[in-house]
Amino acid sequence: MERTLALVKPDGVERCLIGEVIAHYERKGLHIADIKMVVPSRQLVEEHYKEHKGKDFFDELVDYLTGRSVVAMIVEGTNAVSVVRKVNGNKNPLEAELGSIRGKYAFETTKNLVHASDCIETAQREINLWFQ
Ligand code: ADP
Ligand code: MG
Repeated sequence: MERTLALVKPDGVERCLIGEVIAHYERKGLHIADIKMVVPSRQLVEEHYKEHKGKDFFDELVDYLTGRSVVAMIVEGTNAVSVVRKVNGNKNPLEAELGSIRGKYAFETTKNLVHASDCIETAQREINLWFQ
């Protein structure tokens, strides 16, 4: 069974959308294998997003997640990596399908409510990072 790492980002927590996010995954047929609330350090957020280091949005992205409550979960199911990204929708909420989480609830590319690992190798790395 495939596993992936999903996050409800701080805007999702503050807007009381944790349950909505979980419901989207569960109703799709995915299983929440583990879940916790985390207030990540800058070091954890920088490590999580290290592939984006040096890009113009990196500092804004790190500031947005650092020191604010985030829900981290391990989501399990057949093709979980690609299914969770599909349920989340495009990172730009204007391009996200309307039935996706970002399509329904987000309106900015930085504050786009959720995260999900982009491939199986990344999923393993991110699960180890958030659930060490
Ligand atoms: P995804 O979250 O869909 O995997 P990326 O890995 O490309 O997308 O980007 C990581 C996160 O960085 C996005 O979810 C978003 O919060 C932020 N981000 C990406 N690109 C931009 C951008 N051009 N402007 C502002 N924020 C961005
Ligand atoms: Mg990504």
